Amino acid sequence: MYDIQKIREDFPILSRTVYGRPLIYLDNGATTQKPRCVVDAIADEYYSVNANVHRGVHFLSQQATELHEASRETVRRFLNARSTNEIIFTRGTTESINLLAASFGEACMKEGDEVILSVMEHHSNIVPWQLLRDRRGIVIRVIPMNDRGELLLDEYERLFTPRTRLVAVTHVSNVLGTVNPVREMTATAHAHGVPVLVDGAQSVPHMPVDVQALDADFYAFSGHKVYGPTGVGVLYGKEEWLDRLPPYQGGGEMIQHVSFERTTFNELPYKFEAGTPDYIGTHALARALDYVSAIGMSEIDAYEHELTTYATARLKEIEGMRIFGEADAKGSVISFLVGDIHHFDLGTLLDRLGIALRTGHHCAQPLMERLGIEGTVRASFSFYNTREEVDALVAGIERVRKMF
Ligand code: PLP
Repeated sequence: MYDIQKIREDFPILSRTVYGRPLIYLDNGATTQKPRCVVDAIADEYYSVNANVHRGVHFLSQQATELHEASRETVRRFLNARSTNEIIFTRGTTESINLLAASFGEACMKEGDEVILSVMEHHSNIVPWQLLRDRRGIVIRVIPMNDRGELLLDEYERLFTPRTRLVAVTHVSNVLGTVNPVREMTATAHAHGVPVLVDGAQSVPHMPVDVQALDADFYAFSGHKVYGPTGVGVLYGKEEWLDRLPPYQGGGEMIQHVSFERTTFNELPYKFEAGTPDYIGTHALARALDYVSAIGMSEIDAYEHELTTYATARLKEIEGMRIFGEADAKGSVISFLVGDIHHFDLGTLLDRLGIALRTGHHCAQPLMERLGIEGTVRASFSFYNTREEVDALVAGIERVRKMF
């Protein structure tokens, strides 16, 4: 049973006020709020188990290591990966993509080789490839989209050449909400012998994700967007790929033996995890995944879909409303502009009513250029948001509109 009031009680921040008004938090695409169990897990581990992992013979170190590795198993189960060797802990989606660009770029890409991205990528899935382009002379090709915000799959297929080495595409757009058909896109890439990296920053928090069913070769997400702590994230990679790729950073943990002449590297997944990991963060991330799993990812998906459909209909009642992104398959994100009110003004005035939204280019400037705009206001919903909050958003926008 989906008991929204009970769920909201798990998130203490949702009952605070801002400017004397109840907080209406609709910036979940940027980061999500934390349930008590996640924050408690952080405090509990620091108070009672804290010790560095993988290195101590002593009791605490072993217990901390067990918790850290159990968290890896929780992530494995959550994504339905085959093995914990396929779960690399990182700082977040950004680091996961940079890891892959550095490592895959080093091993598999030389001058003139090509990577296919989409026009709706977040900067974190553009700039690492541009850095690689500057270092190695690779070529970036871009999948276009239609005006509804759907990728053009025929054009996508035409981008493949004998020099294509990788497809890197977002599962869900953080601006348009488009849910890209990554399973189909992966099948196309595989038919050309090309592996696929999926940016799951905006999908993992909102829908069931099964990396085996998607057949993605690499999949990245951030803990803080899925109700976990900041500073921890995941790169999933098929073991056969990760085995072939060189380490990303050097240091402790990732080695087997070091001499000044030669170093041998540790086995998976540690080969990619140099230095002390954020073992407190991984434990808290696992609690967050347990939390959303207990509600059910399908239930979350269904609830948010219904809420977003309701919000879309209500927002469309507003005169001058322009919504960007009307794909058939759409997640819980609505980007919009109203008349000629600047997005920053609209966001700032709504903030004074206690409504937290994101404004600007949303780290997707090439997409803004495609849309011919500078920025939007974005409402991004979570399973803890309500219809009453949507109504308050609509009333707030009406109020601002009348002021203009
Ligand atoms: N990719 C997408 C689609 C995103 O929405 C974001 C964050 O907004 C990122 C990547 C980057 O995530 P992080 O800043 O947690 O590394």
